[in-house]
Amino acid sequence: MTDRAELEAESRRQREAAARQRPSRDEALAAVRTLIRWAGDDPDREGLRGTPDRVVRSYDEFFAGYAENPLEILQRTFSEISGYDEVVVLKDIPFESHCEHHMVPIVGKAHVGYLPDRRVVGISKLARVVDIFARRLQIQEKMTAEIATTILAALQPRGVAVVVEATHECMTTRGIHRPGVSMVTSQMLGVFRDDASTRREFLALIGRSM
Ligand SMILES: [Zn+2]
Repeated sequence: MTDRAELEAESRRQREAAARQRPSRDEALAAVRTLIRWAGDDPDREGLRGTPDRVVRSYDEFFAGYAENPLEILQRTFSEISGYDEVVVLKDIPFESHCEHHMVPIVGKAHVGYLPDRRVVGISKLARVVDIFARRLQIQEKMTAEIATTILAALQPRGVAVVVEATHECMTTRGIHRPGVSMVTSQMLGVFRDDASTRREFLALIGRSM
């Protein structure tokens, strides 16, 4: 099982390194101007004049997840679960992310389930965890695993299940051009990995069979 303190330390190291390496806003604006010129256009023409500023502000939104700590979001748990010992599932959590190979959108939804042991968390918090990892440069497999291990470390439930389905614009708008293709990844931990009937129950609840 992943140790919570270890995850916490790793997450802090990442945020500190990112803060140290962060360029100035002017450097970011200049980089966008360079990319516009690289595309073959003139950053000083009327229609593009405000673009570097808009792109930099969009980045603040797309990549807001670097400044946030998902373990902190899950810290406030409710320990009184009055004997509830069934699977908790939040399905169809929409997210938008960006692929770390091409920096183009990954758009999809995540389904998150866990079997509580002592602690439960407000369901909106599970959606926030998905959001934090989505708002970073990602590959879908890594994002799926990060969501699952973070919930496992924070809530110490009997198991965690995460299924992510998404369309990658790097596949649909460039390269092999396969519009409509979606990718499905899953990470099953604890009872969801070890017990086929618990896993089937989760998959049935999210409307899938695998
Ligand atoms: Zn890509």
